[in-house]
Amino acid sequence: MVTGHAIAEEAWEAAAAVADPEVPVLTIEDLGVLREVTVEDDHVTVTITPTYSGCPAMDAIRDDIVLALTAAGFHEVEVRLALAPAWTTDWMTDAGKRKLVDYGIAPPTGRAAHGGPIRLQLSVRCPRCGSLNTRELARFGSTSCKALYECRACLEPFDHFKVH
Ligand SMILES: [Zn+2]
Repeated sequence: MVTGHAIAEEAWEAAAAVADPEVPVLTIEDLGVLREVTVEDDHVTVTITPTYSGCPAMDAIRDDIVLALTAAGFHEVEVRLALAPAWTTDWMTDAGKRKLVDYGIAPPTGRAAHGGPIRLQLSVRCPRCGSLNTRELARFGSTSCKALYECRACLEPFDHFKVH
């Protein structure tokens, strides 16, 4: 017999395996986007917080969650967006940050400054050679969530997942 708790866990695992369309090595759980999964009778409610208002990936994530849960045997799936509190890169898991480095993207550094206009920007470490001697080439990299950096040590350009 399957308990209600086990069913909720199964639903969480199905939703947690959904990959971020922009950085496919990261799941929405790694990103901290997946906030809550509740199961009531046959109805699953998944709550996510978008990473960034400018990230068009959210619609794709929403569709993927419905598909993943349907494949796991849940047929009534509702995806809710929780906009407050706003997502910050602080919610990204350590496993997620490690995966970003392996993928060649510098993970967010420092912490988002909550409730203030001042943001602490620490040096960005090159994901290839580990040098801190890097500079920003462009505020927006391959997507609006990332900035384009260049490493002065190995001369490789790389994406940096911006802190926000
Ligand atoms: Zn480098």
